[in-house]
Amino acid sequence: MIYISKIRRNIWPLYVHPLPDELFSSWICRLANNHRVSPEILINESLNKKSPIKININNIDIEPEPNIIDIITKNTPIKIEELTKLFLTDYESNIVENNIPEEILFSLLFLNINDPKKSKRRIVFCPNCLAKGTPYFRKKWMLTTSIVCCECKSYLIDHCPSCYKPFSYWNSNKNSIQINYSITTCKCGCDISKFSFPFRSSKLEIDYQNYIDFTINNGFNDHTQYSFTYLNVLIFTASMIKNIIKASRNKKKLFKVYPDVIMDIKVPSNKWTLSDRQHLLPIAFYLLQDFPNRIRYVFPKKYNLKREFGQLPYWFEKELLYR
Ligand SMILES: [Zn+2]
Ligand SMILES: [Zn+2]
Repeated sequence: MIYISKIRRNIWPLYVHPLPDELFSSWICRLANNHRVSPEILINESLNKKSPIKININNIDIEPEPNIIDIITKNTPIKIEELTKLFLTDYESNIVENNIPEEILFSLLFLNINDPKKSKRRIVFCPNCLAKGTPYFRKKWMLTTSIVCCECKSYLIDHCPSCYKPFSYWNSNKNSIQINYSITTCKCGCDISKFSFPFRSSKLEIDYQNYIDFTINNGFNDHTQYSFTYLNVLIFTASMIKNIIKASRNKKKLFKVYPDVIMDIKVPSNKWTLSDRQHLLPIAFYLLQDFPNRIRYVFPKKYNLKREFGQLPYWFEKELLYR
């Protein structure tokens, strides 16, 4: 601990500030790495071993946990407003219809890569971004709708390119002091920031990602004033593509509008892998462009995925109902 007279308290000595759009778990790992310990040891260090706090890595980034927030604000100069920005709940009204806690959480689960109750989270990243300056992991990469990095024109990935296992920077070593631990090193020893895709993402994928990023950052787009309704419709449309191709008549129509559909994705939307999403979401985005023409042409008269999605917004559903 060192005493900082400006803020009149003792803080952890090797403080680092969060970087733009950084995810909480990424920041706390970098902070703990600086102190050569695991995040769990760093957080529990000031509790003198009285009822230690256990960290659940599967939902650590979703919403701030009061005990952990309290310890961090006591031991670092970070302001509470800066700290809450590191969590996914900070997206708030830009991804939800009603800005109430249950809705925010529901939307986050909907827009999170996995259903945290059923499966372990997978860290998604742009290897090129990790190779620039100080490596850290971004909040926006964790959303279902994120598939490419527009700055690097690179595909996002969710596994180690060397051992093919899900990548995690979370260091849960509870015993020894860490020496030279790097946030980009996989357990197999591979440095994921050294990896580069041999091919770049397509113009449609970049257009898609730019449009989604705009929608989430601004809370609206040219379809709707409520960005969440568009995101809901996008994932609904992507799910419908799987249904559409079951009947050859509909499949032909879809191929007329979008000729390159290769489709073998059978799992429900909360189980889509990153590569399923990289394949389906740009097509759904393309079908929603020139609205409502492509949707009206391609969608079958009967569609029945609503149970998975609840109520669809009227601006979308009326185009399907009145034909
Ligand atoms: Zn990038
Ligand atoms: Zn590996």
